[in-house]
Amino acid sequence: MTNESSRTDTANADILLWQTGYRIALAVFAAFIAIGLRRADSLELSLVADLTIGAGVADRVLALTVVTYLLLVLGIRALVRRTRAAGRTLSALMVVADLVVVFLLVFLLAEPSAYDRGLLLALFSLQVTHVFFGRAPALLMLAAISAAFLLINDIAQRHGSDVSWTSALTTLSFFFLGALLVIRVQSHLHARLATLVSIFERAEEGDFSTSYDVEADERPDAITTVGRAYNRMRLQLVDIVLTDALSGCYNRRGFEQQYRRELAHAARTKTDVALLALDLDFFKQVNDTYGHLVGDQVIAETGELLRAKARTDDIVARTGGEEFMILAPNTSAAGAHHLALRILEAFRRHTFGAPDATVSLTVSIGVVSETVPDESIAETLQSRADDALYAAKRSGRNRMVLWSHGLDALGFGQPSGEYPTIPGSARPPV
Ligand code: GH3
Ligand code: MG
Ligand code: MG
Repeated sequence: MTNESSRTDTANADILLWQTGYRIALAVFAAFIAIGLRRADSLELSLVADLTIGAGVADRVLALTVVTYLLLVLGIRALVRRTRAAGRTLSALMVVADLVVVFLLVFLLAEPSAYDRGLLLALFSLQVTHVFFGRAPALLMLAAISAAFLLINDIAQRHGSDVSWTSALTTLSFFFLGALLVIRVQSHLHARLATLVSIFERAEEGDFSTSYDVEADERPDAITTVGRAYNRMRLQLVDIVLTDALSGCYNRRGFEQQYRRELAHAARTKTDVALLALDLDFFKQVNDTYGHLVGDQVIAETGELLRAKARTDDIVARTGGEEFMILAPNTSAAGAHHLALRILEAFRRHTFGAPDATVSLTVSIGVVSETVPDESIAETLQSRADDALYAAKRSGRNRMVLWSHGLDALGFGQPSGEYPTIPGSARPPV
């Protein structure tokens, strides 16, 4: 079962559970009225019922219908309570049972001139069908209700009752048109609610890219108000959920989201994407020498500095303690190389930790730039940037290494040994 359908089943279960209360109350009420009045002889069976099945049988059918319906509702309630889910079959069974009971009771107790009560009661089943299954099944249900109404009128006429077809068809037409209108309005509501639900579900997964389109609501209502409130909240949520408070950069979650999006875009446009993996050199010593507070300040300043050096379209993220990533869309290896050099140079010029300390710091950078064939390159790109960073560390730090196919062959994957100079590595200009 997919997540989507199990979520729907749980939602349907909740609806079915609260509705069973109403169903039981309605059935008991109907039973009291019908059976009680029948016993007191103050409720006549309809003439048609009397003529077709006879009073005795009709009484028994009446009692049996109500009891069976009650048992069915109670059974479904027990089942739904146990499983906490209501699939399509169960929901369909419930609405069909509603429909049968309504028209059976109307047929047994009402004269043809009052059969339109059945239509009124069936509106409930129609509404439930719409909620559970959507528009197409609701339209089918509408057809079923109309057919049931015509059927009991037809039976009544065949058994000699005085059926006014003009009146019956006029009532049915009004009912039909009214119901169509209700379905249309409700479908519109449902569609907008579904949009809101999907926006919230995406937000639940940390994706705040979509806002509610307030302008599309021609007649603003409660849903528009919720949408508008979400739009306001969205901006704050983005800040809270996707941003790293200390550095002011994207956090890992924010980065992953932007990364996937940019890769998808780059794959569509067949453009280059560059990825820079950065790690502060000997940062532990900063903490050990100046304390954690200064360490924190250095991280904050690093975030600021990286954002200042990156372009507006670049995504700067703090992906670990003193580790950062920069995603540069539409950037070739040469462009990424320049960006890395600019950063190394900026570190060389900057003194961190003022006013409490004067910390000089360097950074190692692994760089990769590739044309993006499809999104499956995501992991490969990250691990290449990491490999290049690792190579930069192993070959002396305070430099950048541009990933190339020969990098692995140079032995930087090895945990020890002497590190040769890397063709793609560069220190900042002194
Ligand atoms: P290398 O050049 O090999 O990267 O050396 P390093 O000392 O930077 O690397 P290492 O991974 O050993 O140390 C990283 C340190 O960063 C260890 C940890 O205490 C510190 N750190 C991680 N997150 C934070 C933070 O949020 N605040 C502070 N003040 N320190 C942090
Ligand atoms: Mg580190
Ligand atoms: Mg480090």
